[in-house]
Amino acid sequence: MREAAKPWAAHVLTLLPDVFPGALGGSLLGTALEGGLWSLDVWNIRDFATDKRHTVDDAPYGGGAGLVMKPDVVDAALRAAGEVAPGFPRVYTSPRGRRFDQSMARAWAAGPGVLFLCGRFEGVDQRVLDHWELEDVSLGDFVMTGGEPAAQAMIDATVRLLPGVLGNGASTEEESFEAGLLEYPQYTRPTNWNGRNVPEVLLSGDHGKIADWRRERAERITRDRRPDLFRAYRSRQSEKSRK
Ligand code: SAH
Repeated sequence: MREAAKPWAAHVLTLLPDVFPGALGGSLLGTALEGGLWSLDVWNIRDFATDKRHTVDDAPYGGGAGLVMKPDVVDAALRAAGEVAPGFPRVYTSPRGRRFDQSMARAWAAGPGVLFLCGRFEGVDQRVLDHWELEDVSLGDFVMTGGEPAAQAMIDATVRLLPGVLGNGASTEEESFEAGLLEYPQYTRPTNWNGRNVPEVLLSGDHGKIADWRRERAERITRDRRPDLFRAYRSRQSEKSRK
């Protein structure tokens, strides 16, 4: 008999284990975590320090401000976590990395899970990153004090794509980025709030017209806010119409 498939697993190596699950324990993600639709293993990097004072960092060679996470300690943590996460993508959260996006979340959701190494201080000794072939992935062009919020954001975006987590399979398909566009505006009751009306077409019950209106709004918002996305969307469209 085939063994039951293991749920999608996040392994997080961190010096701040207490900040997990954090936002990942709330609402739909938390329910899915409790229900076994995904799993979260948090590894305290400090547990892998071997000296009496549990030293995890040291001064940078070449001088400069701050401290660097030691290769031997990070290596021991990666070895332990790696053993139970074979074949997982290994990610180092880093502002120097490839920028995280929806297509990365899709790719990760299709695999067995992801292992994250969260940096602190000035970062991690380069040799251990090279040795384990970690991929640097960035949350965006800004610098935080640690990788934990980045890992949480990336896990959130990935786990909500797993089957059953949102409870409605269709609901991720029309969202921002999925069609290369930002999402259209959303409205709920009441029809008049504070003198502002819900757009008439949304009350019409005409699904064709509603779809057209939403697409037109999505295109307009994308064109105004993200010309880069809009150009890519346009060229895909003209590609399609050529075929
Ligand atoms: N000296 C580094 C920044 C260190 S910030 C540099 O200039 O590149 C400390 C840690 O926070 C990093 O090791 C990284 O793991 C995490 N971090 C900071 N900003 C991040 C971002 N935009 N995305 C992902 N991780 C980030």
